[in-house]
Amino acid sequence: MLKGKTAVVTGGTRGIGAAICRTFAQNGADVAFLYAGNVEKAKEMEEALTALGVKAKGYRCDVADSAAVKETLSQIAKEFGPVQILVNNAGVTRDKLVMGMKDADFDDVLHTNLRGAFYMIRGLYPVFMKQKYGKIINISSVSGLIGNAGQANYSASKAGLIGLTKSVARELASRHVCCNAIAPGFVETDMTKDLAEGNQLAAQIPMGRMGKPEDIAAAALFLASEGSDYITGEVIRVDGGLAM
Ligand code: NAD
Repeated sequence: MLKGKTAVVTGGTRGIGAAICRTFAQNGADVAFLYAGNVEKAKEMEEALTALGVKAKGYRCDVADSAAVKETLSQIAKEFGPVQILVNNAGVTRDKLVMGMKDADFDDVLHTNLRGAFYMIRGLYPVFMKQKYGKIINISSVSGLIGNAGQANYSASKAGLIGLTKSVARELASRHVCCNAIAPGFVETDMTKDLAEGNQLAAQIPMGRMGKPEDIAAAALFLASEGSDYITGEVIRVDGGLAM
């Protein structure tokens, strides 16, 4: 489905990002993924993806660092050529009630989750413009749609991503570049492992279970593929009905 395409995925070594890398590679895409620090996990991921018969490489890069993103994207351009698919998946939480939230808790989350996506999109913008094709997929969250107590910073970043998605979609629609967001609900990853205990979360979800990273990857595959060519500026909830 994605044969001949190159995808860039941020935060690709674990959780949702890793599932997206695997799903894209299983569907024939070459994958350049960015990771924050775990070199060993990145090597394992490179090997696992390469074993699927595609080209794959991990790049250590903090997405909140504008210069590092620029440098990494130019390295990827040299090694992979033009990119067709970008998934902004890297994200962090620093959960606290607003009363106790420090400036750094707010800034760090905004920098990684929102600025990081902006830097990646800006870096690939000329590539997408020139080739008159591109699929940008931003991983937002239901917290960005309905808010969440204790996550003012995170929810603001994820709501911001939706605004970014729609503006980029409008800027690039005439160039056949689609920009969409996915809003996952509660997904079983490192990010939610402390929350997931006791199964109370599943009880709030109409479908009665947490999401799996593969549930999100399936939506990302759709948004990366031809089947979604007439969809842009959309937010797809993948949440078992949580935020309907
Ligand atoms: P995770 O913590 O398992 O993975 C996050 C990934 O982002 C990691 O690979 C991490 O190394 C990377 N990352 C973090 N900061 C980075 C930085 N500055 N530069 C580069 N990479 C960085 O979490 P996950 O659950 O897989 O989350 C993936 C995305 O999905 C995030 O954007 C998250 O906000 C979003 N999301 C998750 C859930 C959930 O329930 N797990 C729900 C809604 C949205």
